[in-house]
Amino acid sequence: MDKVQLGATSTVVIIGGGQAGGEAATLLRQNRFEGRIVLIGEEDYLPYMRPPLSKAYLAREITKEALIYKAATAYEKAQVEMRLGKRVEEVDRQAKRLLLNDGAALGYDKLIIATGGRARELPVPGATLRNILYLRTIADVEALQPLMQSGRRLVIVGGGYVGLEVAAVAVKRGLAVTVLESAPRVLARVTAPAVSEFYERIHREAGVDILTGETVSGFLADGEEGAAGLVQCTNGQTFPADFVLIGIGLVPNTGLAEKAGLDVDDGIVVDAESRTSDPDIYAIGDCAMHAHHGFLRRKIRLESVPNALEQARAAAASIMGRPIPEATAPWFWSDQYDLKLQMVGLSDGYDELVIRGKTEASSFTAFYLKEGRVIAADSVNRPGDFMAAKRLAGERIEIAPASLADESVPLKTLLRAAAA
Ligand code: FAD
Repeated sequence: MDKVQLGATSTVVIIGGGQAGGEAATLLRQNRFEGRIVLIGEEDYLPYMRPPLSKAYLAREITKEALIYKAATAYEKAQVEMRLGKRVEEVDRQAKRLLLNDGAALGYDKLIIATGGRARELPVPGATLRNILYLRTIADVEALQPLMQSGRRLVIVGGGYVGLEVAAVAVKRGLAVTVLESAPRVLARVTAPAVSEFYERIHREAGVDILTGETVSGFLADGEEGAAGLVQCTNGQTFPADFVLIGIGLVPNTGLAEKAGLDVDDGIVVDAESRTSDPDIYAIGDCAMHAHHGFLRRKIRLESVPNALEQARAAAASIMGRPIPEATAPWFWSDQYDLKLQMVGLSDGYDELVIRGKTEASSFTAFYLKEGRVIAADSVNRPGDFMAAKRLAGERIEIAPASLADESVPLKTLLRAAAA
């Protein structure tokens, strides 16, 4: 149990200035924490939203300022000391002290680790050539932007959300885009074959060359010094490229926690309160592995903004000794072309798929059921369905598949019937 009583002389330090860290900082003050709050972030920016990096920001539809999650005044008002452009190098749990890259040391009473993750690198020959890029930060988009010119050949390694979102932006800008996916279909880890097929068709119709079952084995330099010109696959196929984007997932930043001796298992292991194996240290967001996610009833590390914010709420409440908000069904979204995909729940382990609406009309919801109950849903251009799906999956409502598919029956009616 927590023995430390926090007061006006206490200090909470947050490591990491992403959305999780930024949210936790202001929430602590909202929860009436009276002591000192310090946020240390390696990037030079105030906490910003990463989702638009592969969508509206890459497409130059919004400015850099629009990415900022909360204005500087919000942190000033909450009296959060922002130390940006600084990196924490070590957590000394015995002394309850942090060491920063500028040589400074900083004590804490409670610590929140919100270090997020970094793009997973592709360990193949030629992967360090200079025109091979990743997408995680504003700096990454700034490196990508000048290359996004009409007529250029872009090869994207990975048919996940980030890869497909970049493909949509690039092909609209007139680039020749090839997506190489090693699995038999795009979005294979997260959606049903029908949804993958839908996205493959949409991209092909837009002019993207999508190849599945293609495993990249290396990059060959062309005449330009230090730049890749050819992408090689294990089956001998090659693809010419002016530049390459690798979008094959994320590696959680757990180095500090590991060095400090906290439990780490593909993420810093936390309980329902976001507390690590040290009761004075919390971990939230992409870097945290729920030992047992309350809603999903299993061990999982989630990579999404709603999860980052939910865990920030749990940590702030726990630090202040308040009730922990209940964990909800995870949800996520993706924008490609004029398609708004919204997903709730996790579909793995489903035994029945029900499509409501028409994939041909780009307006449908795929409901995933397990033993007659809705466990997840993917909605395309159907915000009304999505609202209902959040409840259906959130409450794991038992429902007849035929009525889910029947568009003459409003989902609201099904919800009302289930509640009765
Ligand atoms: P991060 O945002 O990674 O922030 C962690 C911060 O900590 C970073 O700034 C890092 O530099 C800093 N840091 C790390 N180590 C240290 C250290 N030792 N000292 C100081 N600072 C440190 N989610 C959705 O829900 N919907 C989407 O549509 C969506 N699209 C996405 C598109 C892209 C291109 C990307 C990259 C992500 C997307 N995500 C999306 C995921 C979402 O952005 C993340 O889940 C969310 O940003 C996690 O926030 P976080 O604060 O945990 O981590």
